[in-house]
Amino acid sequence: MPVLPSEVARPRLPAWLRTPLPTADTFSRTRSLLDELKLHTVCESAKCPNHWECWSKGTATFMIAGDRCTRACGFCAVATAKPLALEADEPLRVAEATRRMRLRHVVITAVARDDLADGGADHFRRTIEAVRQLSPGIVIEVLTPDFNDHDDAIEAVLAAAPDIFNHNLETIRRLTPAVRHRATYDRSLSVLGKVKQRRGSALHTKSGLMVGLGETEPEVLAALRDLRSVGCDMLTLGQYLQPTVKHLPVREFITPAQFVRYARAAEELGFVHVASGPLVRSSYHADEFQPGSRG
Ligand code: SF4
Repeated sequence: MPVLPSEVARPRLPAWLRTPLPTADTFSRTRSLLDELKLHTVCESAKCPNHWECWSKGTATFMIAGDRCTRACGFCAVATAKPLALEADEPLRVAEATRRMRLRHVVITAVARDDLADGGADHFRRTIEAVRQLSPGIVIEVLTPDFNDHDDAIEAVLAAAPDIFNHNLETIRRLTPAVRHRATYDRSLSVLGKVKQRRGSALHTKSGLMVGLGETEPEVLAALRDLRSVGCDMLTLGQYLQPTVKHLPVREFITPAQFVRYARAAEELGFVHVASGPLVRSSYHADEFQPGSRG
C-alpha cells in the first residue's frame, strides 16, 4: 500500500533549522501595515520559516492576485481554491506599503492564475509600475508563475522592466511531476530562457531549488547546469520543509556543509549570485544583491 504523506511522522528539526521567536517592534508594525492595506504575503501564506526574521527587519514578499492558487503543488502551503476577481487597486496598495516600509528592494510574487487569459501578467505589470512611481530607484524583483510559457504574458511583465525576473524550477527533473504536477521542468526552463533572450543583460534572471525531497547530488548539479544553459544569472537553494502533514514529506535534512558544496559548484558554473543554505528561500535576504554590482 502506498504511504500517504499524512501517515509519515514529521521528523524533529535539526538545530540549524530552528528559528528564534520575534521580539522587535518592527514585526508588529509590519503586521499592522499589511493588515491596514489588506495585502497578502507569501511569508504567511507559504508558512515561510523566516517570517519572524524578515518581518522584524521590516521586509516582506508581497503576494498579489489573491491568496487562492489555481494549482496544488505538493510542497506549497498556499491555499488551492477558485480564485476571486483581481482587485484593481491592489497594485497601488502594494506600492503604498513599499513606500511606507521604505524598501530599497521589493519582491513581488503571485499565485498561479490559470483562470485568467494572461495568467495575471498584466496585474504584475501594473504593480511594478505603481511601485516604481511611488518609490523611484527601487530594485524590483518579481517571482512569477510560469504563465504556461505564453509569450504575451511574459512580455507583459517585461514591459514594466523589472530588475530581477525570478521563476523557480523548485526541484530536479525526475521529481517535478510529483512536486509540481501542473508544471513541467522544461516549461520553467523555457520561461527563464525567453526572458534572458529578450532582455539580455538589461535584467537578471533568477531561479531556486528546494532540496531534501529525495534528489541526489548529481541530479541537483544537472539542474544547475540546465539553469545555466538558459542563461540563469542567480540561484537560491534551500531546505524543503513540510508545511503541513498533507504535504510531501521531507526525505532528508541537507547539512550546512552540503549547501556550501552546492554553492561552490553553482559559482563554478557561472551563477553571478548564489544563496545556498538551510533557511534560504527565493526572497530571503534578496536585498543583499544589487543588480548594478555586475558589469
Ligand atoms: S524569506 Fe521571503 S517569504 Fe520568507 S519571510 Fe522572508 S521575505 Fe517572506
